Amino acid sequence: MTGRAFLIGGATHKNTSMWAALWACSRGVPLFVVLWIFIFFTLVIYSDRLKWESAEEKLEQLANTVVEQGQSIDNLQMTLMDRANIFNRNAPTIFAITPTFARPVQKAELTRLAQTFLHIPNFYWIVVEDAINKTELVTNFLHESGLIYKHLNDVTPRTFKLGKNDPNWKKPRGVAQRNKALKWLRENYNSSQNAVVYFADDDNTYSLKLFKEMERIKVIGVWPVGLVGGLMVERPICDASTMKVTGFNAVWQPERKFPMDMAGFAINLRVILEKKDAWFSYESKNGYQETEILEQMVTRDQLEPLADCCTKVYVWHTRTEPSHLKEENLLIKKGRKSNVDIEV
Ligand code: UDP
Ligand code: MN
Repeated sequence: MTGRAFLIGGATHKNTSMWAALWACSRGVPLFVVLWIFIFFTLVIYSDRLKWESAEEKLEQLANTVVEQGQSIDNLQMTLMDRANIFNRNAPTIFAITPTFARPVQKAELTRLAQTFLHIPNFYWIVVEDAINKTELVTNFLHESGLIYKHLNDVTPRTFKLGKNDPNWKKPRGVAQRNKALKWLRENYNSSQNAVVYFADDDNTYSLKLFKEMERIKVIGVWPVGLVGGLMVERPICDASTMKVTGFNAVWQPERKFPMDMAGFAINLRVILEKKDAWFSYESKNGYQETEILEQMVTRDQLEPLADCCTKVYVWHTRTEPSHLKEENLLIKKGRKSNVDIEV
């Protein structure tokens, strides 16, 4: 508004000068001088007008940006308030450690997981990429996820990486990544933090009920896992009268001290911090990752059976079938892949 008033003011002033020029002409001043004055003032007015128009446009853009920024600050404030309310419940923080690696189904897996985790109060996702550098896909994904998270990466040494046609059990998976997360926790938290740590692989299926159960863990909580170890359910055997674990139903390598899947337990952060030298190892025998990490941290009599004395299944060791991309591979050979500039 002020700009416009000024513009009109300026134009009026220049129009006055033009009248003066015409008046001078009528008093015998040569015509070309009058014309020159006329053209000069017309140009001045025109260039002024252009300047004001562009300033007005810039102001409008600025105003829009301010409005947009204001909206995102509002959103942020709301998210923080939501989170703060949730964090006030006195429930432990649940740190879920998820190793993940690039493959066609990765974003789908992470989406499925994130959208489960969004329902969990006090949830803190530690995502560790098996990669030399953090990828743009995972970085953007986490940024937009709405979750509280820590994004780390650590690459699996080449000798321990599964070959294209290797069966899954041939090499340990997620070792470097889980260790990276343990290190980060040990470096960034102390035992005043009320928290539980869970190793949540990216291809399992998790019920929200599982995370509710975890809130009760003092040392180590255990529960059944569906569809693992060649069984419909692999589980600790729980004595309902004492609420103690008396054994396990595992059929595969039952001689392991803790014959359980990674998805079948969570540990209080205090234990992770106290047993600061407990790590996953590439030296472990196939299928011994779980038992070996647990042997370094707890004893069998410390196991706390959850999920209704280990009679309920709240997590499934589902494995996503690798995508069949026969046609895509043909297209790639022809230099015409289907996902140019499209993140899948
Ligand atoms: N993983 C990884 N790098 C690999 C293979 C697997 O980071 O080269 C991750 C994977 O994304 C998953 C975890 O390690 O979160 C366990 O792997 P997988 O699910 O293949 O193991 P399994 O189900 O056979 O125990
Ligand atoms: Mn898996």
